Amino acid sequence: MELWYTENHTDNVRFSAKIKKHIYQQESEFQKIDVFDTYEFGKLLTIDGLVMVTEKDEFIYHDMITHVAMGTNPNIKSVLVIGGGDGGTVRELTRYKTIEKIDMVEIDKVVVDVSRKYLQFTASKLDDDRVSLYFEDGLKFVENKNNVYDLIIVDSTDPIGPGEGLFTKEFYTNCHNALTENGILINQKESPYYSHNAREMTRSHKKIKEIFKVAETYQYNIPTYPSGHWLFGFSSKGLHPVKDFNPNKWNELGLKTKYYNTDLHVGAFALPTYVRERLEDE
Ligand code: SAM
Repeated sequence: MELWYTENHTDNVRFSAKIKKHIYQQESEFQKIDVFDTYEFGKLLTIDGLVMVTEKDEFIYHDMITHVAMGTNPNIKSVLVIGGGDGGTVRELTRYKTIEKIDMVEIDKVVVDVSRKYLQFTASKLDDDRVSLYFEDGLKFVENKNNVYDLIIVDSTDPIGPGEGLFTKEFYTNCHNALTENGILINQKESPYYSHNAREMTRSHKKIKEIFKVAETYQYNIPTYPSGHWLFGFSSKGLHPVKDFNPNKWNELGLKTKYYNTDLHVGAFALPTYVRERLEDE
């Protein structure tokens, strides 16, 4: 008998991966969490029936959510990760010796526990001395914080369930306040291709643009997310991801990456015309 994991990417499109074993399943207080072992993608974590992380392509997501900001400002010392329970974003951040403090606020402790047990490839650095874990709502965590973080990374689920509040204007305003003068916000900005994702992309962009001086968008290709074409937002109080980027400085760090490089850093901001138009679509 063959076993397959199937996810509806739209009402008319499905993604399937053949599985060796369904390793874990639990309904936590917040969401339904599953781990599968698949033939093509290795271990695969889903939340509420949506792929979060796979062993084979997580490097793409975690390189791009981390190194673009760190490349733009190599002096970042204090970082907040919101969500990110699988630990992949923290793993990449800990590679920078210059970072002094990483706070990670994840609403669901079960995701971290499961990742520690089954996804050591992403969770391996959650015990780094610089990392503090907080199990609470990221929305609340950033309230009333002023001038604390050089970088905030929103590594969240889609705007449904507990992730919904992380796409609101109130949340982006609180992030702006929590950032230092050269602060950068990186956020999950959905996908331009299928209409339900594109709607969220446009809504998120519109809100951020009203709050941040610099509000840019960059792209990456990840095979296991709907359409494979996904976006992150880069927003800041002044630093520009391309104009203020010094590739030599990042290359001098000697970090080995599998997806990110300094040419791609610049190229990722060159968006297709339909994406540019859709972003500005009011
Ligand atoms: N790579 C992933 C993706 O976009 O598919 C995101 C991975 S990470 C597992 C997302 C995490 O965000 C989940 O573990 C979820 O519990 C967490 N999360 C959702 N809403 C949150 C909130 N309001 N505060 C903190 N964490 C939240």
